[in-house]
Amino acid sequence: MTTTNKKFTGNFTQQEPITAEAIAAAVTVMESGRLHRYNVSENNELSETTLLEIEYAKYQDQKYCLACTSGGYALQTALRAWGLEPGQVVLTNAFTLAPVPGAITAAGGTPVLINTTDQLVLDLDHLEQTIKSTGAKVLMLSHMRGHLADMDKLMIILNQHDVALIEDCAHTMGATFNGIKSGNHGVMACFSTQTYKHINSGEGGFLTTNDDLLMAKAVILSGSYMLYERHEASPAPEVFEQVKYLTPNCSGRMDNMRAAILRPQLANLDANCQRWNDRYEAFVAKLAPVDIIDVPQEHQSAVEVHSSAQFAINSFNDQQNQAFLQACKEDGVELKWFGADKPAAYTSRYDSWEVLPTKPLPQTDKVLARLYDVRIPLTFSVEDYSIIGDIVAANALLIASS
Ligand SMILES: *Cc1c(COP(=O)(O)O)cnc(C)c1O
Repeated sequence: MTTTNKKFTGNFTQQEPITAEAIAAAVTVMESGRLHRYNVSENNELSETTLLEIEYAKYQDQKYCLACTSGGYALQTALRAWGLEPGQVVLTNAFTLAPVPGAITAAGGTPVLINTTDQLVLDLDHLEQTIKSTGAKVLMLSHMRGHLADMDKLMIILNQHDVALIEDCAHTMGATFNGIKSGNHGVMACFSTQTYKHINSGEGGFLTTNDDLLMAKAVILSGSYMLYERHEASPAPEVFEQVKYLTPNCSGRMDNMRAAILRPQLANLDANCQRWNDRYEAFVAKLAPVDIIDVPQEHQSAVEVHSSAQFAINSFNDQQNQAFLQACKEDGVELKWFGADKPAAYTSRYDSWEVLPTKPLPQTDKVLARLYDVRIPLTFSVEDYSIIGDIVAANALLIASS
């Protein structure tokens, strides 16, 4: 069934190439033979990884940054550094990606899931109820798909109940709330540099914090051995003295190759955030006139980075939902659907994470049932996103009237 006359032929998973500058930096690392972050020459050379940490801490307006193997690893490390006890409850979003509850499980915690609202942010009423019913002391908040909750209101609730916040900023690198970078509200924040995030080293991650002891523990946890003094975006040696024999080495360092290709990308990050948002605006402008399509609204204090777009069509029945996905696919537009019973590709619904002790969450089920998602690779132009928006809007209207 073909329902529109427009067709799109782009590849939704094609990222931009690594630039010549970044490739040259990686080649220099290879020529040096010093790929390991602590393998530095005699004259107090700062490795690419150390330089990247300094630059990212500065970008993030935080004192400290640790570069590591992945975003998921940063999340685990944050929980371990925070002092999570075996079996302890960690609150997190029901609407997130599997590595988030996975990190909690890996760190020995018990994930307890909080509902999402129809604006795709954490439901703060459900959060408060669950804090009261579980006595939880830590929230790992996923700013899923870049949507920022009311951070002021959230912090009031967390402070009132003495709950620590660890932020998963895999989708909010570069975003702000009240002019403050996302990742500056909690005690620690975690970022991913995996290919589909905002800077691309294939795999990689960051942990940032202003807290001396948490950073010292995170550095030792990441596998610094007793070479922690080769970190620069980290606290003074005296702080390490307090934790160095008490903190296990859970090896997960970043290497100089990845750091070398990330540093030039970091310099371009803000410009790219604007490019994502330009594409997003072109896309949602085409959905706005269609009554049956709901696009989540950003909080007035938030400046999000729309490296993907979400929309809902709550009036569709099961058959219309399937027909819509199929029609868009035939027109070359690959939509992800968060409501599927079975996990598919990167998306899975919370109730498929059967390792968790999860109760049904009808509110979240309702939101996810008709929630669609489209990637925004920067290899597509603004004009491409107008075409993609036209295809989505036309198919939605045709299927609603059929
Ligand atoms: C990608 C992602 C992670 C994990 O990052 P990796 O670097 O792939 O381990 C965590 N949370 C969210 C929301 C993500 O999208």
